[in-house]
Amino acid sequence: MESYAELCRLFSHVSWLWYAIAVIVVYAIGALWYTVLFGKYWLKALNYICLCGANLSIDEKCTCKPRFPYEMVFQFISTAIFGLLYFLVAPFSIWVPVAIVVAFSAWTKSMMKFQIADWRRFKTLAAIDVGYFVIASIVFILFSRL
Ligand SMILES: [Zn+2]
Repeated sequence: MESYAELCRLFSHVSWLWYAIAVIVVYAIGALWYTVLFGKYWLKALNYICLCGANLSIDEKCTCKPRFPYEMVFQFISTAIFGLLYFLVAPFSIWVPVAIVVAFSAWTKSMMKFQIADWRRFKTLAAIDVGYFVIASIVFILFSRL
């Protein structure tokens, strides 16, 4: 019972309006980040094989039929889940969210290195992906403390 009360207390500090705004802002930054800002470098370094078999990273043409972009929905949901983590912890401490940023960035980089042998591709992808994560985290932390 005490842990339920603690959970309620944790969520009572969330400013839901700022949370909703922050999720949309972070998602919009991501849309820009992976298209106009770094989309070209990202796609090249990614070695992305499409459902139709085309390697989009070496400019092979996609022949897929137009379909609902599930990836965008997954990304939106995971953005919302990660953002909520900051909204739960940041009102109580600035150092816990900073520790999350550092820990998750390190984790992501080491996981990526297992998947990408080539150092150049690794550095490009790590800079773009972890860079976006850090920017997203800063936005969430700032908005959660408003
Ligand atoms: Zn395709």
